[in-house]
Amino acid sequence: MTFAFQECINPACKSTFDVGQVLTSCPNCGSLLDISYDWNRLPVPSSMSFFQERWNNRLNPLDYSGVWRFRDLLPFADDDQIVTIGEGQTLLQKNDRLGALCGMKAGSLYLQYEGLNPSGSFKDNGMTAASTHARMVGATMTACASTGNTSASLAIYAGVTGLFRCIVFVGSGKIAYGKLSQALDYGAKTIQIRGDFDDALARVREICEKHPIYLCNSVNPFRLEGQKSIIYRVLEGLGWQVPDWIIVPGGNLGNSSAFGKALMELSALGLIDRIPRLAIINAAGASTLDSLVNDEELVWNRGVTNSTLIGQYYSEMDQSGRRALTLASAIEINRPVNLEKALRALDVCGGVVRSVSDQEIIDSRAMIAANGFGCEPASGATIAGLRMLREQGVISSGDRVACILTGHQLKDPDLTVAYHSNNPELHAKKLHPSGVFSTPFANAPIVVDNEEAAILQAIGIV
Ligand SMILES: *Cc1c(COP(=O)(O)O)cnc(C)c1O
Ligand SMILES: [Zn+2]
Repeated sequence: MTFAFQECINPACKSTFDVGQVLTSCPNCGSLLDISYDWNRLPVPSSMSFFQERWNNRLNPLDYSGVWRFRDLLPFADDDQIVTIGEGQTLLQKNDRLGALCGMKAGSLYLQYEGLNPSGSFKDNGMTAASTHARMVGATMTACASTGNTSASLAIYAGVTGLFRCIVFVGSGKIAYGKLSQALDYGAKTIQIRGDFDDALARVREICEKHPIYLCNSVNPFRLEGQKSIIYRVLEGLGWQVPDWIIVPGGNLGNSSAFGKALMELSALGLIDRIPRLAIINAAGASTLDSLVNDEELVWNRGVTNSTLIGQYYSEMDQSGRRALTLASAIEINRPVNLEKALRALDVCGGVVRSVSDQEIIDSRAMIAANGFGCEPASGATIAGLRMLREQGVISSGDRVACILTGHQLKDPDLTVAYHSNNPELHAKKLHPSGVFSTPFANAPIVVDNEEAAILQAIGIV
């Protein structure tokens, strides 16, 4: 595969590197890296419907995978190197009832349910690609830092394929039990350091630099190649029509970055005729991107981003001891590692950034579930963001919107049960770390004596 290479995203540098190298930043200037392709020398399909044909051949694991079915759009690996466990069998579904609650016309709101992946979150789209690259370079040990889902995903790829040993670093305390249980069950060596996610990531990056361990966080440019496929599947679910908006929660901004790159490439290859707008939704308690973009007016500026401004923002954050705090633990991040790539995505897509409160996140999550899609709190940020953007008149009632539900409901059942029950102890434990919450969509269990009359009364047949 000589038509793929790694390329520095800094336009003043643009250094290129072989795909056989293991890098998570440009050795010359420190910027992030893209995987780039010499498309002129590669067979590119003439239309997206080409990929539909692959369904007829789904006994081939590469054609079955919702990532590698699109391998012509991420051609960095030879077929026999690809590591797949059947990821990406996800679903785009219209949801008019939820749409109506968001002020949308019938036929406008679509949910892209990434909770259906093998480890229950979108991370598998990226991990199949990172694992493939790890295999290409002969890695025997992989690692990541994680708020939970990255570790669950890496652990399942290492466990199922047996190709690598796997070490996951998690912060202390915060990790949702569904996610921690996966890392333990799939057999990852799990290191729980005293500190938060940002601390864990800084540490694992340092360790992977010094030792032969392959890093699978979203600074790994190969991982983001796999995450492009979420966009391809949204288009596929819409019969290859382009939606008006894509709404995604923003944590480390890997998804946002991958979506921007996917759309940029599809447009350049003539496979789509317009680019949808992107809305990235932060939690109010972890709103670095929102603050930098909307308050500090940080922009991509053709790759000449204002690094002084970013540096000042982070040093002020450190000096004041301000740390991310939100119930949506998957997006509880101080320093999003893909910031520059996300700025590029916002630029390409005419994007917007908003932040929503934890109250809005947990209520939106409950509304999504009541309309048939179980997702974890971070995914609830999408619908909270949609409601905000409708109120602000940024999104119109007839716009076609795809919300990316990033993780499964069963990742964080404690929070769900705390929301629905009226047990004050549960509330205190799960719902009060950053404030006092109301639970307007609660569906509490009814406790009754074990006798027919009481039960019938509770059911409402008296
Ligand atoms: C990782 C994760 C996110 C954040 O995605 P980024 O690409 O880091 O912005 C959001 N939701 C869930 C469920 C996640 O696991
Ligand atoms: Zn560079």
